[in-house]
Amino acid sequence: MTRPVCTTCPYCGVGCGVVARVTGERTVDIAGDRDHPANRGRLCSKGTHLGETVGLNGRLLHPMIGDRRAAWDEALDLVADRFATAVAEHGPDSVGFYVSGQLLTEDYYVANKLMKGFIGSANIDTNSRLCMSSAVSAHLRAFGEDVVPACYEDLEAADLIVLVGSNTAWCHPVVWQRIEAARSRSGVKLVVIDPRRTETAEMADLHLPLRAGTDVRLFNSLLAALRARGQVDEAYIAAHVLTPEGFWEGIAEDADPGAAAAACGLDPVVLDAFFDLAARHPRTVTLFSQGVNQSTQGADKANAIINFHLATGRIGKPGAAPFSITGQPNAMGGREVGGLASTLAAHMDFAEDNRDRVGRFWGAPALAAAPGLKAVDLFRAAGDGRLKALWIMATNPAVSMPDAGAVRDALAACPFVVVSDVMADTDTGRLAHVRFPAAAWGEKDGTVTNSERMISRQRPFFPPPGEARPDWRTLADVGRRMGHGSGFAWTTPAEVFDEHCRLTAFENDGRRRLDLSPLIGLDAAAYDRMTPVRWGADRVFADGSFSTPDGRARLVAVRQQPLVNHDLILNTGRYRDQWHTMSRTGLSPRLSQHRREPLVELHPDDAARFGLADGDLAVVRTAQGESVFRLAITDAQRPGEAFAPIHWTDRTASGGRTGRLADPAADPVSGQPGFKRTAMTVTRL
Ligand code: SF4
Repeated sequence: MTRPVCTTCPYCGVGCGVVARVTGERTVDIAGDRDHPANRGRLCSKGTHLGETVGLNGRLLHPMIGDRRAAWDEALDLVADRFATAVAEHGPDSVGFYVSGQLLTEDYYVANKLMKGFIGSANIDTNSRLCMSSAVSAHLRAFGEDVVPACYEDLEAADLIVLVGSNTAWCHPVVWQRIEAARSRSGVKLVVIDPRRTETAEMADLHLPLRAGTDVRLFNSLLAALRARGQVDEAYIAAHVLTPEGFWEGIAEDADPGAAAAACGLDPVVLDAFFDLAARHPRTVTLFSQGVNQSTQGADKANAIINFHLATGRIGKPGAAPFSITGQPNAMGGREVGGLASTLAAHMDFAEDNRDRVGRFWGAPALAAAPGLKAVDLFRAAGDGRLKALWIMATNPAVSMPDAGAVRDALAACPFVVVSDVMADTDTGRLAHVRFPAAAWGEKDGTVTNSERMISRQRPFFPPPGEARPDWRTLADVGRRMGHGSGFAWTTPAEVFDEHCRLTAFENDGRRRLDLSPLIGLDAAAYDRMTPVRWGADRVFADGSFSTPDGRARLVAVRQQPLVNHDLILNTGRYRDQWHTMSRTGLSPRLSQHRREPLVELHPDDAARFGLADGDLAVVRTAQGESVFRLAITDAQRPGEAFAPIHWTDRTASGGRTGRLADPAADPVSGQPGFKRTAMTVTRL
């Protein structure tokens, strides 16, 4: 057995430390890292079984042009030439990158620099757009910067934890273990707000099974109730918060608890119990996830939650914060480098002074002037001829995007599609003109940032197989071939990380909290030794100073948008033991035992209405498409609301393709699609 390697789990945003001990050519023992502050040795089922997923079956080992194996130089030359030609003939906005929260920060940094600084477009978006971009928008509106103000220790310091739109026990299991440990130690109360009676909800002190999409109304009425009880912190607001005109009048219109209960589909007694718990427990952490973010009003929902915390002074103190938890291992790192179409770089937007600063730092010949196409629009542009070349990295949008059938059609219509992936056969890879073999977890070398801003190393313990390479290197090779040699001359990931850190600190006047100055200048050995480090203070806004020009946070006036009534709506989400489109977790026999097939879950009343029985095969139809599922009848669902998992693909099942069904309508503020409410019908097969 070789020396243990400390690395980080490649799945969810909890960011657990993992100790890997190589036992053979492609075999490894996995254990939780007792020294990692995120998990202190704990792992969930997915992390525990990582060792079953590191074999080489199905790996993409060589560059491919069409179905032909190609040399790296030939494939790189072709990609550089096609992108350069498209830019020359049609302008920089005729090309795009679609990247991923699976990329390491170093990969993300190089992709963002190439697209925004040297190609000259901001058409780089990420699958994190589907995950937490509503929280990003809400942070920007409220705090002036995309900062998660809390850390995991706040869950242990709270006396009330409110989970909103989060099946934490399944989707962030080690955070859930920390919550459960805190409950048994200190008696912290737990409220779960979720339309479904999930495993998480079943273990709560109070479950609010609200009507899907009514979170804004719920949190406005909570704030009204607390104001009526004298619990708005007027002194905190006077010192640290700007209140827009008409804000409290809007809250007052949502004050009637009976009307709020009716609008949210809740028992008034349950709603009152929630208000009472919130009133009696000022140390409150509200942890929210996809049930909030994946909505056509996702940013407003997140701001309604943040309003509650700002107005009651429940922020910047131990055990008191709004806490957006990220789904992917490096969604946060992507946000930090600016790998969203709506951000320029390093928490800077496209304001002229930021463009000047970033342009000088990069020596950029063609800096992007304005935000680019967000995920849904990026694929629309690929389909309607505006994009001439698209490079997709470490993600499978032909399955995971909403209206995934239209995304497949768009990729088929796009003149030039490049895919970087670890797997040879993916639904997206089948539509690529060029495929680059990427290094996988266990081979990659770089950093990730978890939900609480903790930067950790992902370290290699296997050599990349075949001709697989790190994504940052492939991107830099293309950048050099496009004529940008000096900007892409790194030889190690440590050099890329150093440049990223220096950009965060470059002419930073102290207003941007993302400032990685303490990490500047790490040489390769120091980078390799790096232990987990959180950027910013544990509680970033503890001093009451925010990242806005005047240092004050903003209450944001948000009102519940009317919801279109449908006979039946489809909600989507994860299973406990699968990850995304199963290209890794599907390799583990033990993980596949938890749920062997995709089920659509229906309330018994709906099953009776449609003449369906438990175990039937049924066709789910939406405006986007149809797919077959086996039915599970359960009163854990609200009547009129069904649920299906997101994981299955053309490769893994003959049905259960949820992405094809989902409505691509997106939040106008954040661009995040509203996966949680798609009108559907269901009939027996
Ligand atoms: Fe990995 Fe998340 Fe499980 Fe931790 S909780 S082991 S990061 S999947």
